[in-house]
Amino acid sequence: MKLLLDATRCQGYGLCQEPAPELIDLDEWGYAQTRATEVPPGGEEAAAAAVSACPNSALRLVK
Ligand code: SF4
Repeated sequence: MKLLLDATRCQGYGLCQEPAPELIDLDEWGYAQTRATEVPPGGEEAAAAAVSACPNSALRLVK
């Protein structure tokens, strides 16, 4: 499972990082940067929470 970020949609709200700090870093302006595109075992729930938290639909999970 991969967590993909569409950087063109990211508006820097930073809401995605709280539920998935091990998967997402924020840059100094609050824009998301995926730390690991490949979701590690056990990280699926956090990844899904990050996707749900983004108000701009900038994140998605793909198999
Ligand atoms: S919640 Fe969405 S818009 Fe905000 S930083 Fe994360 S990916 Fe970007």
